[in-house]
Amino acid sequence: MVKYIFVTGGVLSSLGKGVASASIGTLLEARGYRITLQKFDPYLNVDPGTLTPYQHGEVFVTKDGAETDLDLGHYERFTTLTLGKINNTTAGQVYHDIIEKERRGDFLGRTIQVVPHITDEIKRRIKRARQGKVEIVITEIGGTVGDIESLPFLEAIRQFRRDVNPEDTCCIHLTYVPYIRAAAELKTKPTQHSVERLREIGIQPDIIICRTERPISAEAREKISLYCNVSPEAVVEALDTSCIYSIPLVFHQERLDTVILKRLRMRPRPSRLAKWEKLVNIMQQPKAEVEIAMVGKYVRLQDSYKSLDEALYHAGIPSRVCVKIRKVDSEALEKEEDLAKHLNGVAGILVPGGFGVRGVEGMISAIRYARENRIPCFGICLGLQIAVVEFARNVCGWKDAHSTEFNPQTAHPVIAILPSQKDVKNLGGTMRLGGYPCVLTAKSISRRAYGKNRINERHRHRFEVNPEFLPEIRKKGLLTAGLSPDRRLVEIVELKDHPFFVATQFHPEFQSRLSSPHPLLAAFISACLKYKETIT
Ligand code: GLN
Repeated sequence: MVKYIFVTGGVLSSLGKGVASASIGTLLEARGYRITLQKFDPYLNVDPGTLTPYQHGEVFVTKDGAETDLDLGHYERFTTLTLGKINNTTAGQVYHDIIEKERRGDFLGRTIQVVPHITDEIKRRIKRARQGKVEIVITEIGGTVGDIESLPFLEAIRQFRRDVNPEDTCCIHLTYVPYIRAAAELKTKPTQHSVERLREIGIQPDIIICRTERPISAEAREKISLYCNVSPEAVVEALDTSCIYSIPLVFHQERLDTVILKRLRMRPRPSRLAKWEKLVNIMQQPKAEVEIAMVGKYVRLQDSYKSLDEALYHAGIPSRVCVKIRKVDSEALEKEEDLAKHLNGVAGILVPGGFGVRGVEGMISAIRYARENRIPCFGICLGLQIAVVEFARNVCGWKDAHSTEFNPQTAHPVIAILPSQKDVKNLGGTMRLGGYPCVLTAKSISRRAYGKNRINERHRHRFEVNPEFLPEIRKKGLLTAGLSPDRRLVEIVELKDHPFFVATQFHPEFQSRLSSPHPLLAAFISACLKYKETIT
């Protein structure tokens, strides 16, 4: 018998519904249950792949090559799951499928309506996640209750609870309980209103998680319980925290997992959270700190490199260091004196992935600065491409070297479009996406860090190192430390004469988890720590 948990949000957005859902996943896995997580996004884009990071933050890439909402990143980082295409549904996909069926004539002349056609498709997708031996499906609904867009999803949940035994479902509503300074009081009214909205739609939540700045008094809890019609133990406090990985522990203390299992009539197996707790402790009590500069174009946005930020924090765990990230806008690095100013004192420099020419020259300068000053350096995707361009320009002496993404006319196109990309017209879902194998070169930093020859990492790009220029580039000291098994595509480059200079065409950050930091990023942080000791 499969059980279903639905997570909705009220009052306002950005309350951390994704992390809350992921934390519920951590807790139920710690209880020995096989779970899965999925996200429903009410917007009409078919996937977030074509969206600018300014709108919904990073695009998370799954192993099977789907471009998904960044919450799937939290789900993977908080659990043992490897998710895929089926774990992220957008309203765009739902409508797309239904309209395609209508055009094919599958509906035999009937009128196509939101209820039942769209809602049926949503219900089908809720169940679709139940693959293998999954015992509990956790479905998070994006957006906030009251949004026009999320109505079909909420209606589908209402119907779903009616279709199955309601006791096999648990609705968890995340709200905000603001503290009003003038009144010196926590206010429960917004929570009451948002639960009222849910009830109008026909959904009575079973549990209310209250995001708050201040501890919730017994009185406020009682009030929420009474007005929202849930038992007092089902009002769960979620106090602001500086470490998102402590949230499962906070929820556990609040007995959230016990309440969920009781509601679902599941056995409260013993909870095994000791390992998680140990990792959180290491993060909260580090022995040292290293600061690295992340030089990119979207650095001012909090969520645009979410997985990378998190992966860097994880990467500090093996060395027991706290990683501080100095976000440097690459457009500010175009002049020589700006480099020393903005990169002063950092223990490492990292250039992440990106698209478009804005800020590229600043990234090239930052990489040159790291190479010449022997500062540990890591490039990811565009970062690798930039590292190759910098090397071609300043070591090989090809002053006009560039990627054809930015200068199609250059005589030295050291980065060029992938052959598989030449005839691509549609922008959505057409890059080289998802997990691909890579073979590591003996005696490279990468080979040592991974401790094996063959790896599989996730990609999201259209351009690649142009093999035409490789013999010369290799001769001048750039090592191709990772190649595709057919040896055609360069996956990792390293500088031979440098303490730590590694760049990857893939995105290591998508496979990092709190419980298994990425080996190559961990090696980078360890090199940064060593470097820091030499400069202080
Ligand atoms: N714009 C580059 C490409 O498409 C890099 C992409 C990335 O960094 N994810 O190849």
